[in-house]
Amino acid sequence: MTTCTALIVAAGRGTRFGGPLPKQYAELAGQPVLRHTVAALRASSAIDAVRVVIAAGDEAHYAAATAGLDLPAPVIGGASRQQSVLNGLEGLASAAPDFVAIHDAARPFVRGDDIAACLAAASQPGIDGAILGTPLADTLKRVDQGTIAATVPRTGLWRAQTPQIFRFAALLAAHRAAASLAASDATALTDDAAVAERAGLKLVMVPGHEDNTKITTAEDLLRANMTETRTASGFDVHGFAPGTAVMLGGVSIAHTHALAGHSDADVALHALTDAVLGTIGAGDIGKHFPPSDPQWRGASSDRFLQHAVRLLGERGGRIVHLDLTLVCEAPKIGPHRDAMVASIARIAGIAADRVSVKATTTEGLGFTGRREGIAAQAMATVELPKR
Ligand code: MG
Repeated sequence: MTTCTALIVAAGRGTRFGGPLPKQYAELAGQPVLRHTVAALRASSAIDAVRVVIAAGDEAHYAAATAGLDLPAPVIGGASRQQSVLNGLEGLASAAPDFVAIHDAARPFVRGDDIAACLAAASQPGIDGAILGTPLADTLKRVDQGTIAATVPRTGLWRAQTPQIFRFAALLAAHRAAASLAASDATALTDDAAVAERAGLKLVMVPGHEDNTKITTAEDLLRANMTETRTASGFDVHGFAPGTAVMLGGVSIAHTHALAGHSDADVALHALTDAVLGTIGAGDIGKHFPPSDPQWRGASSDRFLQHAVRLLGERGGRIVHLDLTLVCEAPKIGPHRDAMVASIARIAGIAADRVSVKATTTEGLGFTGRREGIAAQAMATVELPKR
């Protein structure tokens, strides 16, 4: 089977970016740009393994950005992009994959099917490599000291993107040959295709998409920093049992009964937990905290909601709004509404103005009307990084 390793070049210092961190470590929708880029490449069926080339001194940034991803140790780059890629290729030489996909760390939006199309093009007989690109749409002007000197025909001109996928042995040989060039000659080799072209390799252009943009400036990051909004619901019921207080939203409310059930039977927090879990498709509260497990008997339900919020955070998400409706004849919710809002906000780690607590009765109808228990319905609205 054909093997293709992605070599992500993350060794740049990002001098045009101007932020406190090189752009590949800056945050994009809650996660470092590099982490998104690794995920995008791993998600493609064309890529078997991912290796990252970083700048010397960036080890801590890299470790933080890739924590838990189980990547092989990074390769330390060199003084130029070309030297960094050569170091990366030398680091792969013993494994010698059939193909290598060189990819910019600052292109996190690459589409998996475009990577696969690029590999398919590079795999054709008689072809040494293929790169993604887009045809130029803008009119090009040659400008001399502020004055337009000429309109440059754009026929046949494309903008080169990455990945650029090559037969591994051919690209390694091309880079080794280019390494001996004088610095003045090497500066023209601004991408790996240029190195390969110089070596006489036969390359093809694969039409990609404009959204495979490279984050170069802080404005790019702002424009790219987009999230998607998701909403999910949760529902729960607990019946009354002998007792003197009910827990609702983490607030103990004196009542003629208690609520029976799993943990402290906080029906409000259980419905909210299911709503938050629903936004990331993470199942329901019973999956994470089985009622059959004795360790949750009488447990405070704070931890259930906090667990769901933590799972959301691990996906780079955050809560935008929580909305809760309690359905019961008694106890009266109104006098406790503000305390419940403050409690839910504290447990979920969000501002109180992002929490809404409402209550209704069922006009004496049904089990809540017969005062047999309390039902809770919740909606969670969250923002997640766009994938
Ligand atoms: Mg429950």
